[in-house]
Amino acid sequence: MASLLHAIASFFKGPSGPKCPECASIIIDDQCPNLDCPIKVAEWLQRWGSPGGVNIPALGQAEVEQLAKLRLVLHPGELYELGPGDWDRLGGVSAGHRAEIDGQLEASKSAGPSAVLYGLNLPGVDERLAKRLAEAFASVDGLRLSKPEQLRQVEGIGDRQAGEIARWFRDSLNKKALKMLEQNGFRFAG
Ligand SMILES: [Zn+2]
Repeated sequence: MASLLHAIASFFKGPSGPKCPECASIIIDDQCPNLDCPIKVAEWLQRWGSPGGVNIPALGQAEVEQLAKLRLVLHPGELYELGPGDWDRLGGVSAGHRAEIDGQLEASKSAGPSAVLYGLNLPGVDERLAKRLAEAFASVDGLRLSKPEQLRQVEGIGDRQAGEIARWFRDSLNKKALKMLEQNGFRFAG
């Protein structure tokens, strides 16, 4: 009876369930399914700049959230193409703070492949797995161009994850991110 009432209630409400507070998409499996959701973008930027990633400590949570919310940045590559006018739109970033961020963005370009692979937020790739992938493939391109059977030989990678990682590299947003990072001084070739 309770489930019947529930079914009737949801019929009248239309598509129900909790919505993402940022982009109002209906949450599926506890996650916002919208790939452009500012919350997801902010999380990605935070991971990119984390100590395990390419290390940009001056870029804090307040900054990445604003960059994502204002749609100034959709992926980490765009961090390297922000102009003074873009930064001016953010609240609470002084000239000194911006200089610090600029310096760290510049230094981040020499981050090693394991830091980059962790920061890219590949499916299911934590810091330890990022290190193993960097050891196995030596570079981002080495991993990108690897065959599924090579990927499955890495300890901790199963069939499903090998497929998800290969798909990650085929995704158009991720391709744009990699291209823009390379255009801005990252070296992904072996
Ligand atoms: Zn969302």
